[in-house]
Amino acid sequence: MSNLSCHETKRKVYEYLGDELDAKVKQEVDGHLASCQLCKAEYDLERTISNLVINSSSGSDRNSDFFNKISSSLRSELD
Ligand SMILES: [Zn+2]
Repeated sequence: MSNLSCHETKRKVYEYLGDELDAKVKQEVDGHLASCQLCKAEYDLERTISNLVINSSSGSDRNSDFFNKISSSLRSELD
C-alpha cells in the first residue's frame, strides 16, 4: 500500500514522468494514483504536457524553455 500523501505524490509525478524514480517509489506513486482521482488528474495532465513537449522536440530536449515554463508554473500552483 502507498504511504504517500497527495502533496508528495504530486511532487513525485514530475520525477515519475522523467523516469527518475526507483522502482519501489514508482510503485508507491502508482498505488496512490490508482486510489486518488485528484492526483490521477494531475498525473494525466503532466503526462499529456510531457508527451507534447517530447513529440515536438523529438525527445532530445526535455529541458526546453517551453517545458520549464509550464512545469514551473504548475509547480508554483502546487506549493
Ligand atoms: Zn492524491
